[in-house]
Amino acid sequence: LLIISAFIGLLLSLVAGLFLANRALVPIQKSWNKQVEFIADASHELRTPLSVMQTHLELLFRRPNHTIEQESENIYQSLNEVKRMTKLVGNLLTLARSDSSAQLLNKTVFNMGELVDKVANQFEPIFELKELHFTREIESLMCGGDQERLHQLCMILLDNAFKYTPPGESIHISLKKHHHSMMLIVKDTGIGIEAKDLPYVFDRFYRSDKNRARAEGGSGLGLAIAKWIVQAHNGEIKVFSQKNVGTEFYVKIPL
Ligand code: ADP
Repeated sequence: LLIISAFIGLLLSLVAGLFLANRALVPIQKSWNKQVEFIADASHELRTPLSVMQTHLELLFRRPNHTIEQESENIYQSLNEVKRMTKLVGNLLTLARSDSSAQLLNKTVFNMGELVDKVANQFEPIFELKELHFTREIESLMCGGDQERLHQLCMILLDNAFKYTPPGESIHISLKKHHHSMMLIVKDTGIGIEAKDLPYVFDRFYRSDKNRARAEGGSGLGLAIAKWIVQAHNGEIKVFSQKNVGTEFYVKIPL
């Protein structure tokens, strides 16, 4: 009887051990799958500009007697693809660093109002060219944070508003103090996002309309980076949108 109960005890602890080991491995497996998916998506995104460039360069090579003027369209398109790839590689690096523990924010105390104003000034002439009605309401607010990253966050949100808002429509940016936090809001009356896509817009490489986003120069990484920047500042980012009505991004970061 003693031997049988010892055997059952051993068997039970073996089963429990295997069960616990399996449970511990699930998060590692999940994170591994995410990394594999990320590399596959990144490779796919890099392949597209590379093959477009290859086609343009082959055309140039086949017509050695053509002048630069005659081939200007080909050269222009190749340059566009190089720019797209440079931006993509920069975004991929940011995300890769955000995954590693080595990524630290370079925090200083600065005026967030001045930073938002500066980014808004940069966008103003581009908005004007597209005949977009641009307004702002920016409070002067001292905060502690990574200036470069918060600059990047404003750029991403305004760039998206620009890309997905047709001429004649409006874009509004505001920065206000709310209790012990700052509220950054970017609103547009653009094409909006369908309800089925809304839960995924912060996912890496997610684009609700791939063809349109690519035509606008997007690769679906902007909002993933925006979300990482906000979370690294212990803040939160939310989106509200309605198809053909417009989109609103709300960012709340402790001062
Ligand atoms: P992308 O580089 O494609 O713009 P983002 O990660 O910045 O990638 O955005 C993901 C997707 O969310 C976009 O492809 C687009 O479909 C949608 N989106 C983001 N911002 C807006 C906006 N202001 N209006 C409408 N759609 C938007």
